Amino acid sequence: MPGANLTRTEAAERRALVDVERYDIDIDLTTGSDETFRVVTRVEFTGEPGATTFIDAITERVHSIVLNGDPLDPETHSTGVRVILPVLRERNVLVVDADFRYMNTGEGLHRAVDPADGEVYLYSQFEVPDARRMYACFEQPDLKASFALSVTAPSRWRVVSNQPTPEPVPLDDGPTGPRSQWRFAPTPRISTYITALVAGPYVSWEDELVSADGRTIPLGVFCRASLAEYMDADNVITTTKQGFEYFERHFGVPYPFDKYDQLFVPEYNMGAMENAGCVTFTENYVFRSRVPDAVRERRVVTILHELAHMWFGNLVTMQWWNDLWLNESFAEFISTLATAEATEWSGNWVTFLASEKTWAYRQDQLPSTHPIVAEIRDLDDVLVNFDGITYAKGGSVLKQLFHWVGREPFFAGLREYFDKHAWGNTRLDDLMREFEAASGRDLADWTAKWLETAGVNLLRPVVETDADGVITSFAIKQSAPAEHPTIRPHRLAVGVYAEREGGAVERVHRVELDVDGERTEVPELVGVHRGDLLLVNDDDLAYAKIRLDDDSLAFAQRRAGDIADPLARGLVLASIWDATRDAELRARDYAELVLACIDRETEPTARRQLLGQLTTAVKRYTAPDARDAVGARVADELWALAQRAEAGSDAQFAYVRAFAQLAVTDEQLDAVEALFAETARLDGLEVDTDLGWELLFALVAGGRAGGDDVDARLDEDRTSDGQRSAAQARAAIPTAEGKRAAWRSVWVEPGATNDVARATSAGFWNVHDESLVTPFVDEYFAGLGEIWSTRSFQMAEFLIAGFFPGAVPSDEVVAAARGWLDANVDAAPALRRLVVEGLDDVERALRVRARDAQ
Ligand SMILES: [Zn+2]
Repeated sequence: MPGANLTRTEAAERRALVDVERYDIDIDLTTGSDETFRVVTRVEFTGEPGATTFIDAITERVHSIVLNGDPLDPETHSTGVRVILPVLRERNVLVVDADFRYMNTGEGLHRAVDPADGEVYLYSQFEVPDARRMYACFEQPDLKASFALSVTAPSRWRVVSNQPTPEPVPLDDGPTGPRSQWRFAPTPRISTYITALVAGPYVSWEDELVSADGRTIPLGVFCRASLAEYMDADNVITTTKQGFEYFERHFGVPYPFDKYDQLFVPEYNMGAMENAGCVTFTENYVFRSRVPDAVRERRVVTILHELAHMWFGNLVTMQWWNDLWLNESFAEFISTLATAEATEWSGNWVTFLASEKTWAYRQDQLPSTHPIVAEIRDLDDVLVNFDGITYAKGGSVLKQLFHWVGREPFFAGLREYFDKHAWGNTRLDDLMREFEAASGRDLADWTAKWLETAGVNLLRPVVETDADGVITSFAIKQSAPAEHPTIRPHRLAVGVYAEREGGAVERVHRVELDVDGERTEVPELVGVHRGDLLLVNDDDLAYAKIRLDDDSLAFAQRRAGDIADPLARGLVLASIWDATRDAELRARDYAELVLACIDRETEPTARRQLLGQLTTAVKRYTAPDARDAVGARVADELWALAQRAEAGSDAQFAYVRAFAQLAVTDEQLDAVEALFAETARLDGLEVDTDLGWELLFALVAGGRAGGDDVDARLDEDRTSDGQRSAAQARAAIPTAEGKRAAWRSVWVEPGATNDVARATSAGFWNVHDESLVTPFVDEYFAGLGEIWSTRSFQMAEFLIAGFFPGAVPSDEVVAAARGWLDANVDAAPALRRLVVEGLDDVERALRVRARDAQ
């Protein structure tokens, strides 16, 4: 949106002029409009006398502006994005009375209508710069203040914010019936991006706990009324209590707020958001149908991630968005540690490898990769930086730091950091200083190499043995890509694995060492028998791509499933997947490897990841002339696995879903049809609402079902999930008219919600016949500029990433993307970045396909 950016320089200049004390925000949600709501913001702040500055407010209409008693003409003082404050005094009171717009994109104050019962639900999402879509504010993290909200809403609603919900005061009837006012007590000093408002006829579950300093902390869990029967609040609360105990003990600071509400809200863009004491979550975490165990585990990690932010991020906050990575990486790392140590999901480091690290390695090899400490010049820069570097690589590198400085010094440094900077703003140096003091290690070199440079190193073992297999020399060779040539220090382990009686492959020897430079000798391994498999980065301490030596690779390709330890098995399989993506191994061989070992996988997230990579290997990485045959074989094997799997197991469920995604032959589609119609069944497998949608989706994409079938099912499932699934299925109708209609519904027409837009792109590219979608390649590139300039940031990002024609990798797509980049050198960097990433993905797919064809 034009004029909505804010540069770091502007923020720093404003910070030098202004200090905010308090906001009083009077919000009226009962104006009778579905489009806008009215807010009076009163701000008390100190200023540099005589200076000029501005406050942020993305408004629909400004009724009045009064600065220090003097009215300012909205016509000349409001741009619709900012309100200009011409002359400051030492002490200032500003009052802005304006209408703001409800959003349907998950940014600002989002308004959703539940199709199940017509009820209206509101929630706010402000990170990064969208508090200004609900009230006038100095929108930057280092201008903290106390916020006092008053909310006028229908009397029968629930209203939740950062502070405990007060008793509502009944008012007169408004345009929509009885209404009341909720007057929240002022918050402690926090940043605008973690303020929050959630309102609507939500239902709740309540509990409480006692904090480390003896206060009773009320806990709430909320969701929409139509989802209430599915909400397993007990599980959420149990996890929350485990997290409270763990974090208070390790952080040495009691929970900083007065209550903790967790709200599952509709049409939500991300996993969750750490609003102070008022955390919002995606409804994907309310399980109305069966979900993979991996999703149940992910919900636990997400709950702990957001809870960790109450200290790291909310109590102590980054000064500017260049330290967003620290905020997110810390939450990623510490939530994994807490999940593994304080919950039933003790295998969570295997999950971290399968999800976070895999994501990080992928992102770090894109041309758009950047140092973890990124230069954030403005809001556009930060909006594209919620990526695999900021979250996953940063989290991985913090794991490495944890091992580099040691556990006790790590937590001692952290406690000191919270103690010194409570309620303040910090920079990276403030944290590193505490880790240095606690550990006695100089971290300057480590910081420069790990945080200030981009790219991932490759570690490769060089091993020599005598005739009996005894190691005579062992070295680790380190290399770096030409564009990012930094060679780094690593703390890591090397494991020796061998087959034991009974066939299990287990570790028989381990050494841990510091690796640095291009070649590191490991004399500790000389004289040790090489066993069957040598594993560099055993235990996954380091962040690096790894390769196996030839003998270990040959062994792993036959026996990976026999490796007993899930983390070691995961590392070996990740190494082979990485080599496949680097076009060193054939995609069809990777597919065979997964089929051979998947039934031994014990970890749900690892299983899910392997099946996802198997699908990618078939659909995107197998040479086109072999794809049908390989795909059909893989689908047959998945169906056989599903039939053999334990009745009702997570594995059975996972195989059925993967099978449906890959079903292409008549027999396979017959099997899907029979499951859907329940004329055939697998023991222990219930075709519930969402599995039914997935099966129908496969039938639609396979030409076995059409729009009428989708409509009929939607009639039985008039819910927001149903609408989303229906949009995805309609977009998969394999006709020219079907594709055209789907394209028009979101790419051409701007009205679709964030949820429907995402679902439509997911269905659109799922084709058996690529000629159905190739006509849209040119339209995609021709429309990029307009999408970018006319949609909100989040919607533009969904559309541009979601509709990039990467599902049909071809020289034509490469040429079109390059042509667009050449012709649009001045396009917004964030837009160019999305295209560059899509292009790289296609070029990689073409390389991997070429290797597969050999
Ligand atoms: Zn986070």
